[in-house]
Amino acid sequence: MDLHIVGAEATEAEREAVDRLLGPPATGWQGAARDIGRDGRTAIGGRQVTGDRDLLLPAFHAVQDAIGWISHGALNYICTRLSVPPAEAWGVVTFYHLLATEPRPVAVAHVCDDIACRLNGAEQLCRDLESRLGHAVHRSPCLGQCDLGSAALVTRAGREPGRFVLAPVTADEVVDALKGIDKPKGLSPLTDGMKRGDKPSGLSRSTVKGARLLSRSGLANPASLDSYLEHGGYAALRKAIDLGPAAVIAEVSAAKLLGRGGAAFPTGRKWDAVAREPATPHYVVCNADESEPGTFKDRVLMEQDPFAVIEAMTICGLATGSARGFVYIRGEYPEAESAIGAAIEQARAAGVLGPSVAGSGQAFEIEIRRGGGAYICGEETSLFNSLEGKRGEPRSKPPFPAQIGVFGKPTVVNNVETLVNVLDILTEGGAAWARTGTEGSTGTRLFCLSGHVAKPGLYEIECGQTLRHAIDLAGGVPGRRSIQAVLLGGAAGTFVGPDALDMPLSFEGARAANATLGSGVIMVFDETADLLDTLARIAQFFRDESCGQCVPCRVGTVRQEELLRGRESGVGSRESKELLGELGQAMRDASICGLGQTAASAIESAFGNVPSLKRSARS
Ligand code: SF4
Repeated sequence: MDLHIVGAEATEAEREAVDRLLGPPATGWQGAARDIGRDGRTAIGGRQVTGDRDLLLPAFHAVQDAIGWISHGALNYICTRLSVPPAEAWGVVTFYHLLATEPRPVAVAHVCDDIACRLNGAEQLCRDLESRLGHAVHRSPCLGQCDLGSAALVTRAGREPGRFVLAPVTADEVVDALKGIDKPKGLSPLTDGMKRGDKPSGLSRSTVKGARLLSRSGLANPASLDSYLEHGGYAALRKAIDLGPAAVIAEVSAAKLLGRGGAAFPTGRKWDAVAREPATPHYVVCNADESEPGTFKDRVLMEQDPFAVIEAMTICGLATGSARGFVYIRGEYPEAESAIGAAIEQARAAGVLGPSVAGSGQAFEIEIRRGGGAYICGEETSLFNSLEGKRGEPRSKPPFPAQIGVFGKPTVVNNVETLVNVLDILTEGGAAWARTGTEGSTGTRLFCLSGHVAKPGLYEIECGQTLRHAIDLAGGVPGRRSIQAVLLGGAAGTFVGPDALDMPLSFEGARAANATLGSGVIMVFDETADLLDTLARIAQFFRDESCGQCVPCRVGTVRQEELLRGRESGVGSRESKELLGELGQAMRDASICGLGQTAASAIESAFGNVPSLKRSARS
């Protein structure tokens, strides 16, 4: 497209930031001097520049990291470099919470005020910081640090930009961080050269308990490939190369592994469908855009066992005939991004990633893509659009990703936990692996315990154990207080009452109880919790995160929040409950994607299952 861009121009610093990512402009299509070719009329380089559209979001990040916000001049320059119409680019840049299109301080703090942190006084923390720091503070949806009580993502723009998470955090610590005190509390740099058995100074401060998926967490040094190898790393890849693609997929199918991101689709079937597709190339996408409030399991896996994610993606690539993979990591996880980036470099240097994976003759490469702060991009087709440099809006399905995924090609998309399971499946054998868990829910699962429990953290639990068992593992409710409710599966999940504690934590057990395990959230609310405040925050979350593409969700999420905020007009009354029910039904029936279809689930289940709210609904 021959764009003639008018208006604001980029500053030198903005151009530099973009050119550091894209290289200097090489052709007239990218803003360099026009080269009109041999016949005096044909301009060269156009096809190449339009093929770089997927670098739009990385280019926005580059400017935001360097300058702190994206001016019209910077946007115009990016559009020139990538041949994207400015109106389209504006639609993309304004889609993401973490990208700013107005000037703002160089250092800002995104402070979590979502459901788990609210139970620990996040509202007061945010108000305190807003009065002290003004525009340098932004309230944030869940930062995935739910077991730590309070959290802030601090970003500092400049030539050497900084992004780090403080958790747990006080108001004074946020103020100090914005003033430029570099060493964030509780964060130790990853260290090389650790001895076997040394406790690594891993990035996550989460409590982690588990035997299979978490077997290396806290033992292997996440920054060292040697340490990973000492703890059994890359045995699964060696076996995968020996077995060959069809046998690898057969093992994954025999394990009956269901996706752990929430949709519970059989992983073997997904891999097989992509492997059989005649269209090429094939792609692997690791969905690390873990944004469901209350969920932090993928963050811990990436921070503490990054090579496992890389190895599992590589196996998936070899099995499905894909030579290129993407890890799409949410922008709120800087430590995970850095751990995965370092692991990719080491894997490449060791030859287990690259043109001939471990000497197999098959190529596989991985790129990291950073999300911009949009919950909806965890939906697989939104993620594809985001990767392609478009607004992260869901596509209609069918066609499904196995046929038409990212860049219109067959794509396997799995979340982090699902992929890491593949390593043990291959080393143990699929059938043996499937002996853990239940008939319909094989293996173990990671559960994120938070809220009113004595030892919040990440727990690996065999499928089929009870909810009571999980809460007991986390030390139960402190202070002998009783349980008012438990939220399963996050904001899109289900509230259950204390009568559901014997529910098995399996797909079929949850289904029988009309609940969902979703992404593995178990958030406990004791008798002191203000559940209506939690419900209003959930409604606000969906109102904020709706992409606005379809009316039932765009309008329904606003009306739902209005009903839940209007306490004086009788929230929880029979009338408002009926209205909420009608709204929920409309969103379920007529929304395009899972966000709208589940935006009312937790709220309706709270009024239906939690005794304290059922009583108010009768009044
Ligand atoms: Fe967007 Fe909501 Fe419609 Fe999904 S249901 S496409 S999030 S408006």
